[in-house]
Amino acid sequence: MFDFLIVGAGFAGSVLAERLARGSGKKVLLIDRRTHIAGNAYDHYDDAGVLIHKYGPHIFHTNSKEVFAYLSRFTEWRPYEHRVLASVDGQLVPMPINLDTINKLYGLTLNSMQLEDFFASIAEPKERILTSEDVVISKVGRQLYEKFFRNYTRKQWGLDPSDLDASVTSRVPIRMNRDDRYFTDTYQAMPLRGYTRMFENMLDHPNIKIMLNTDYRDVVGLIPYREMIYTGPVDEFFDFCYGKLPYRSLQFKFETINKSVYQPAPVVNYPNEHAYTRVTEFKYLTGQEHGKTSIVYEYPCSQGDPYYPVPRPENAELYKKYRTLAEQTPGVHFVGRLATYKYYNMDQVTAQALTVYDKLSGGKKFRFDDMPVRTYYQVLLPCPLSIADDEQPVTVSQTVSQDATTPAINKNLTPVHAQHNRALNGNGATRIANKA
Ligand code: FAD
Ligand code: UDP
Repeated sequence: MFDFLIVGAGFAGSVLAERLARGSGKKVLLIDRRTHIAGNAYDHYDDAGVLIHKYGPHIFHTNSKEVFAYLSRFTEWRPYEHRVLASVDGQLVPMPINLDTINKLYGLTLNSMQLEDFFASIAEPKERILTSEDVVISKVGRQLYEKFFRNYTRKQWGLDPSDLDASVTSRVPIRMNRDDRYFTDTYQAMPLRGYTRMFENMLDHPNIKIMLNTDYRDVVGLIPYREMIYTGPVDEFFDFCYGKLPYRSLQFKFETINKSVYQPAPVVNYPNEHAYTRVTEFKYLTGQEHGKTSIVYEYPCSQGDPYYPVPRPENAELYKKYRTLAEQTPGVHFVGRLATYKYYNMDQVTAQALTVYDKLSGGKKFRFDDMPVRTYYQVLLPCPLSIADDEQPVTVSQTVSQDATTPAINKNLTPVHAQHNRALNGNGATRIANKA
């Protein structure tokens, strides 16, 4: 008898499997209909030996110390700050829009204060910011909205920004300075040996059994369990009884190119040209050194794997009906991006799963002291881990990796022990050995 049947081995399902097994001694069966663990974060080496993300670029960033500390149990990190260029009017310019974007685009030499005045002169103030169009137009006016946001959004979502919640384009800030990072979170880093390896470490526990290539419906009557954690699409769980919740999908086209660098940035966005939205070159993300390089084009579409819940009022209403059903379904816990129909990033899903674990384990904070501390450890924490009152602190060496191309991700850090040894592991990936 399993204590928990967990449907889906992505962040939501795997974090809960790990916590329930290692934190509470529960017996867990983790099922995924795909042939691998890690959900949409799955990465693997392609035929050329380049580490790629099967479901599009996944960049880890969070402001949550707790989430970062938790995941640091299962991986070392490679500091990585994401940068994006947008192809607009025949030029490649920084995205999010910043001071350099505007100066380059219009051939100006504004400073930050002049840029504020410039935006103020072209912005169209809105009394209420309701849609994704309102967000952008109220800050930078219609022309920049049309150059950078309107067509990208129409491609990505199959909807005009005026039909999407404000939350969608609010993900991308407008900057008055020259900061060209895509994210400004406190912790920005990539799992050193990739996401799949991190998940393998997470799920490496005798109480966790994994069954891949299996839809849970095929086994649910055959395998005894006490409670279920479900991380698939919520409408599918209830046989679409209220109708289908819209999800946006993507087709990925991968290419390997016989040169070491393909494009001048990790991601180039194409708001106005082509059927694809963006091109990602994985080696920037992973730090891998290789004579060839692999890229992916993303073509948005309405049919296919459900990747993006579509944030708009009528979908939120429909989801509410499913949520009410979910709340009335005893013994099943709905967690994750698809099961709670939220446009969540990986860190938000991790935080949600840890919160669900806290509830399942009687309101106790998840424990750090029940796991062995790894012999080499690279944690980018500005202050010690916060731990529950009744726990013993774990000794974690705070280390910072410095590398010629990537600046330290947090300027406040004091490197206690910094050592950056580059070596190739068996797969050709870059490895930082950091023995404290
Ligand atoms: P998933 O990873 O989708 O896992 C759910 C799992 O459930 C799947 O593996 C599925 O096969 C399985 N499943 C579903 N139904 C069944 C069933 N009936 N039986 C068995 N198994 C089932 N987040 C970031 O933080 N940074 C990024 O840069 C980023 N980039 C992204 C890029 C793309 C193209 C996409 C689509 C998402 C991106 N995300 C990013 C979001 C990130 O992918 C999600 O937040 C995260 O993967 C959600 O984890 P999850 O466990 O909720 O869902
Ligand atoms: N967006 C845009 N132009 C861009 C980048 C983003 O219009 O060059 C809009 C688009 O609607 C997109 C949303 O902002 O879906 C959020 O962008 P983000 O990069 O966060 O999307 P994700 O990585 O989740 O696909």
